[in-house]
Amino acid sequence: MRDTDVVIVGGGLAGSLAAAMLGKAGINAILLDPHAEYPPDFRCEKLDGTQVALLKKTGLADPVLRATTLDGETWIARFGRVLDKRRGDQHGILYAPLIDTVRGLIPKNVTKIVAKATAIETGSDLQRVSLSNGEEISARLVVLANGLNAGLRHMLGLTTDLLSECHSISIGFDVRPASRREFSFPAVTYYPDRFGGRAAFITLFPIGATMRANFFVYRETNDPWLKELSAAPEATLLALMPGLHKVMGDFEVVRPIKMRPVDLYATRGYRRDGIVLVGDAFATSCPAVGAGARKALMDVERLCNVYIPRWLATPGMNAAKIAAFYDDPLKRACDNSALAKAFELRSFSIDPGLPWRVRRWAKFVAQYGIGTLRRLKRQLMSGTAGRRSVAATTKTEASP
Ligand SMILES: Cc1cc2nc3c(=O)[nH]c(=O)nc-3n(C[C@H](O)[C@H](O)[C@H](O)COP(=O)(O)OP(=O)(O)OC[C@H]3O[C@@H](n4cnc5c(N)ncnc54)[C@H](O)[C@@H]3O)c2cc1C
Repeated sequence: MRDTDVVIVGGGLAGSLAAAMLGKAGINAILLDPHAEYPPDFRCEKLDGTQVALLKKTGLADPVLRATTLDGETWIARFGRVLDKRRGDQHGILYAPLIDTVRGLIPKNVTKIVAKATAIETGSDLQRVSLSNGEEISARLVVLANGLNAGLRHMLGLTTDLLSECHSISIGFDVRPASRREFSFPAVTYYPDRFGGRAAFITLFPIGATMRANFFVYRETNDPWLKELSAAPEATLLALMPGLHKVMGDFEVVRPIKMRPVDLYATRGYRRDGIVLVGDAFATSCPAVGAGARKALMDVERLCNVYIPRWLATPGMNAAKIAAFYDDPLKRACDNSALAKAFELRSFSIDPGLPWRVRRWAKFVAQYGIGTLRRLKRQLMSGTAGRRSVAATTKTEASP
């Protein structure tokens, strides 16, 4: 039987970050995952500004961000028009390299075991985890970070509340320009030109030399439209967003096209002795609002920076002690906002009611207004800079 302070079950985004943070803090920990290297998986493929701000709080941002591609500028477009050009804050990276980069930051004092946890027994002092390789681990705390895999949670008697079945479908693929060498945009978020296509938006962003597309739709998994998209992706996209062609030019979708429905669920009965749930093991969120990675980052930042060091400093590990994490105001605000935004974006994208129609037009007008102001400001600034440089040149030429 191995002994440790913390055993982390699952080495995805949440578990690997937790292992790296605890190891850096000199806390005795073991990380369990069945895969030595994270297998290719269609999950979060970019980190936005708020996610990067959280990542910075984990102390691991610099090496992680070095492995990503920053877009530099993001265009917002609709009806074939570029409404705004914002300073880019999207860092593109496929999920497996993201996790493997984080795993590479786990210090040597953390033991990594390539095995599954097959059973967990919890108590107010010591926890016991059985592994698929026959080993057993005794720990003061179990961090359950095993993502969507519900088996262990059910074995522990935790239940799952299905909040929204097939809430959205995420579609991911690469695109390349068909009639020129490269696209003219650094990154673009394009909103559907017409209502009724049951789509939220498509976002195109660079990962290395590749232009990646994430497209979010609200459809059933058996919707024939998904088959049409697979069979003729360019034509199906342009039927929904004819103006996209003006922004992208001729383009080609590179197969494979990944499609993945996401259920929104929350785990219930999690206030237990000896175990704490983080990331998707606690609750999922809608990929379209980019909250999954944010929630995982928030959970791990609060848990490893604040709570685990505090809990280990006193004897016992009962549910009352662990409750402080679930009641953390920042975590709660993050979870609540993720859920609210998931339903809001869905209604915003597919609700035919008047209030949502008004909101859709209000957003379009706001994006157009902000974009126009930004463009004017840029023109003004480049005009001023131009006049300054002309004045400076004239002065230099005039001087003896
Ligand atoms: C298609 C899709 C697109 C997404 N896009 C975005 C996005 O654009 N932005 C965003 O913010 N979020 C997005 N998300 C959500 C985001 O990817 C997840 O919320 C986040 O990655 C969850 O991380 P996690 O560590 O909780 O789980 P995971 O990364 O799933 O990690 C779970 C780990 O547990 C391991 N494991 C499972 N069972 C066991 C066991 N018994 N013993 C030991 N280990 C075990 C697994 O091998 C895995 O490594 C997307 C999700 C999907 C499905």
